[in-house]
Amino acid sequence: MVKKIETYQCGICGREYSTEENAVACEKSHPKLVSVSQNHRRSSYHYPLPVFLRATYDDGTVVEYVWNKGRRKDGTWIEH
Ligand SMILES: [Zn+2]
Repeated sequence: MVKKIETYQCGICGREYSTEENAVACEKSHPKLVSVSQNHRRSSYHYPLPVFLRATYDDGTVVEYVWNKGRRKDGTWIEH
């Protein structure tokens, strides 16, 4: 017998829960982004985009994100 199951989704990470309370708790568990600073790699060549982004969250966590992939408007991928 086919059964319709209703779920609640965290608006931040997309994880689904069977109860609204758990989805709300998931949303509250995510630290909020406060600021992002950019850092260009020191190298002999000039590159217009930052290679590192440093994110600060409202719980005091600081995370550095390193360039993984870049894509231009025309869809081609950028190598750095
Ligand atoms: Zn979540």
